[in-house]
Amino acid sequence: MTCREFAEFLDAFLAGTLLAEEMAAFHRHLAVCVHCVTYLDTYRRTVDACRRLGATGEDVPAEVPEELVQAILASRRKQA
Ligand SMILES: [Zn+2]
Repeated sequence: MTCREFAEFLDAFLAGTLLAEEMAAFHRHLAVCVHCVTYLDTYRRTVDACRRLGATGEDVPAEVPEELVQAILASRRKQA
């Protein structure tokens, strides 16, 4: 699995919809790629922040990259 593929699997991973073999590949990549461990952590916190933003109107924490927030908001709009 490449980092790009990893990023594409992230949404399904967090939604719990990955197939067993995809999940295995996902975890294999996490075990060898510090970059994606950090990315997953940031992504999770951003999703949490966006959820809070939607619920309370709070601002997203400043440490969350703006482009990541926009990407998540855009993908949510597509799903809606
Ligand atoms: Zn990676």
